[in-house]
Amino acid sequence: MHYIEPHAHMVSRTTDDYERLHLAGCRVVCEPAFWAGFDRSSADGFHDYFEQITRFEPKRASTYGIAHYAWICLNPKEAEDLSLAREVLSMIPAFLERPTVLGIGEIGLNKNSNNELAVFHEHLTLATRHQQLVLVHTPHLEDKRKGTQLILDAIREHPDLAPERVLIDHVEEHTVRLALDRGHWAGITLYPTSKCSVARAIDLLDVYGHERLWLNSACDWGVSDPLAVPQAMREMRRRGRTEKDISTITWHNPARFLSQSPRFHLPE
Ligand SMILES: [Zn+2]
Repeated sequence: MHYIEPHAHMVSRTTDDYERLHLAGCRVVCEPAFWAGFDRSSADGFHDYFEQITRFEPKRASTYGIAHYAWICLNPKEAEDLSLAREVLSMIPAFLERPTVLGIGEIGLNKNSNNELAVFHEHLTLATRHQQLVLVHTPHLEDKRKGTQLILDAIREHPDLAPERVLIDHVEEHTVRLALDRGHWAGITLYPTSKCSVARAIDLLDVYGHERLWLNSACDWGVSDPLAVPQAMREMRRRGRTEKDISTITWHNPARFLSQSPRFHLPE
């Protein structure tokens, strides 16, 4: 069965990972812009990174039979230097024109500071002005619920942004309902140690059904597993879920959300 990996930081992964993803049935990978593990020191650093995820990665992925899409933004961890942040924000519209860019993401809050909130709002304004989809990272904090609430309230200040065009990622048991109740989509991230385990993710699907939910691995340079989604598919099968249920969550749902961007095309 084929599936979509809607959240993976492939710049941190090897070509062997692309090969294993393809063998496991992955046919589409989406790569949100994120933090490099250190703060980039200049707007040029962001420019080169955006080039990498919009030109180099699509080529590398296609060698392995996988379509690659990207999301563009700067991370909240890099929002404290407001003048650098604004310089980067000003270069984003040009990248939104690239043929494989799906929208603004993954944006969010980290320490919930005033500067982070200001840059979050500026991203949302950009998304509205350029009619872009939005992918939101919710922090893995002891107070994830409070951070999620702040994010949702900030989004509500942008009434021209349709809720179904925003996906709230890394939801867990105590935040999934908040996102769905506002009309957003929600992403469940499968991580070996933090975020959600495969078993917890499938329990969540048992409780909340399939509507406006997807699964992702969010694999990056940290402890993470690019094959987390096929492992969840296997667990769904073990629990007696139908093939139709499995493909709804891992193919049709991401395709439905992402197809709201005219740049997204399912592979033949
Ligand atoms: Zn991510």
